[in-house]
Amino acid sequence: MKKIAIFGSSGSIGVSTLDVVRHLKNRFQISALSVYSRIDLLEAQIAEFNPEVVCVVDKNAAEVLRSKTAPKTRVLSGEEGLKTIAAEGDYNIFVGAMVGFSGLSPTLEAIKRGKRIALANKETLVVAGELVKNLCLAYNAELLPVDSEHSAIFQCLIGEDVKEINRIILTASGGPFFKFSKEELNRVTVEQALKHPTWKMGAKITIDSATLMNKGLELIEASWLFDMKADRLDVVIHPQSIIHSMVEFRDRSVKAQLSVPDMKLPIQYALTYPERVHAQWVNNNYPAIGTLSFFEPDRQKFECLNIAYDALEAGGTAPCIVNAANEVAVEKFLRKEIGFTDIPKLIDKCLDKVENHKVADIDTIFETDKKTREFALALD
Ligand code: MG
Repeated sequence: MKKIAIFGSSGSIGVSTLDVVRHLKNRFQISALSVYSRIDLLEAQIAEFNPEVVCVVDKNAAEVLRSKTAPKTRVLSGEEGLKTIAAEGDYNIFVGAMVGFSGLSPTLEAIKRGKRIALANKETLVVAGELVKNLCLAYNAELLPVDSEHSAIFQCLIGEDVKEINRIILTASGGPFFKFSKEELNRVTVEQALKHPTWKMGAKITIDSATLMNKGLELIEASWLFDMKADRLDVVIHPQSIIHSMVEFRDRSVKAQLSVPDMKLPIQYALTYPERVHAQWVNNNYPAIGTLSFFEPDRQKFECLNIAYDALEAGGTAPCIVNAANEVAVEKFLRKEIGFTDIPKLIDKCLDKVENHKVADIDTIFETDKKTREFALALD
């Protein structure tokens, strides 16, 4: 029986991970869960999965939960609580499903214990890819991608020599606006941006998908996971989200991984790897899908994709600046303080202002993140 700790159990990846565990009860048990503040959902998860310990980041919500749960479940709180569970909790697999930069600290603790890391929190690799990779090697931690594109690439590379890769092609749904003109993009509302055509996800990643920043962050994530430079990473718009990504080899032969868009598949694979386990809920009905189509992404129109390519090439703390600026810009957009096309403008301002440094250690990352957020928040 393998024990699983889910960091971010109220989000869409967390909930899907629990769905997978529900189907595979004979293999996995939940030893720890964490949420930011959704204690209503956490309460139900505790009742069903009986974790030894949980963490609620929001301290007031943690107090409320403590007064309601039976004393057998330990309730920790705050960022310290997350760190404690990652560093001392009893688990074999760490599922990193938190939103944004906050996923970094607990992930580092889990890596230092040589655990299997099922990583959905792409920001961890975006901001600290080199450090994370080196730590995984030093502590013999196993890093398995949960992001559907990276799981696809990982699966395409099984049995292959990375030296034979010509390029990696990440597929993107294109989000709800890929056919919009620049003028139409200027008028996009929060409500429109929150409607994703193929995937049901949280607000942050749904907005990132609409701006194509999600694909930009995934480029950086792929560069670290698969040791690829920017010039060998391509993006193609594939609105059906059936092909999850492709690898082209030296002989121009291409391998792709396909399935209906369901995050439970890459999650299950990251948990059971190298084994594949029957997934009775999946119905790959290709005649019903009919057509698979592909389009070139418009990098002039979707500037966030360009920003990410440039940050990847610039290296150093540039990806960390982009990530922090993007998190603030998305929050401001969701609060209706800025428009949709102001998101890349705000990120550009941060890149101009915050100096790009060589990443000496993890403190460089935390300082850059903090400095960028302060500057981004102060912008009008
Ligand atoms: Mg993805």
